[in-house]
Amino acid sequence: MQIVWYKYYTSKVPHAAREIGSFWWKDVLRLNTIFRQISRCELGNGSSVCFWDDLWADSILSQMYPRLASFARNDDASVMEIMQAEDLDSIFFLPLSQQALQELEDLQAQLQVLPYNEEAKDIWVPAWGARYTSRRFYSHVFSNMESHPIFKAVWKSRCTPRVKFFAWLILVDRLNTKSMLRRRHLNILDDTLCIMCDSGAEETIDHLFFECSFAQECWAAIHFEWDDLLQLNDRLTQARTTNNLPFFTEAALIAAWELWKLRNDKVFQRRNPSLSLWLANFKSQCLLQSIRCKEDLRSSFCVWLAAFS
Ligand SMILES: [Zn+2]
Repeated sequence: MQIVWYKYYTSKVPHAAREIGSFWWKDVLRLNTIFRQISRCELGNGSSVCFWDDLWADSILSQMYPRLASFARNDDASVMEIMQAEDLDSIFFLPLSQQALQELEDLQAQLQVLPYNEEAKDIWVPAWGARYTSRRFYSHVFSNMESHPIFKAVWKSRCTPRVKFFAWLILVDRLNTKSMLRRRHLNILDDTLCIMCDSGAEETIDHLFFECSFAQECWAAIHFEWDDLLQLNDRLTQARTTNNLPFFTEAALIAAWELWKLRNDKVFQRRNPSLSLWLANFKSQCLLQSIRCKEDLRSSFCVWLAAFS
């Protein structure tokens, strides 16, 4: 490893240099994209660090000084090259714009307080500053990713994992509706039309579960209302908030689940759906799943269900 390193990369930024070496080595090199996203460089002489695009100062300089960076002669220049440059002309295409000039002044002020040691080696460390562990990697990468609150509501609901997974497929638009199968080029049927109604509409998630006249009858039967103008995630969240039922999420998921099962019966068994069949299935499925609720919630769920006949 060291032989390869010193042979090819002395005073060169490895990830900015042309790929050299065996196929195996080139494969390893390509991992640097991931490595650099989770690493920062404690600056030594700056020979292994891209001035503009690596994390070695407080933040990535091309993002901090975008106007100035747009004048850079070499996007891949190392910190060492920039620090040792004789004049501005070798770093930037001149003249600079007024805004770039302002950014240059800010950059110069920032560089003055940064440690730079020509004699020292660069040290690359994980961005979180400590030893690498997969757990730290995970929390670093996903710390800024906030999922929509409806996902939490679905996973926390008292439905069986199978129903939750079905709901998750809907939320991430991965349910195998005809429209989805066509998008994935898996549609073995010629048409992509909804079979629950005769509107001639394409069978999308929105149509099948909300716009379709059959779905609307189902929702009306249990007095659930949706704001169709909202995106699906927000639509569910809004309905959860406005509806007072403590088991709203469970009931909504089961309702959609039973709708999907009737749809599958029609597609695969040619069995005709009906509102009364859906309602009967919905009620018995709710009763079955309500066993997973605490006693007081379960009894209010049962009372609510009993009102529909
Ligand atoms: Zn339809």
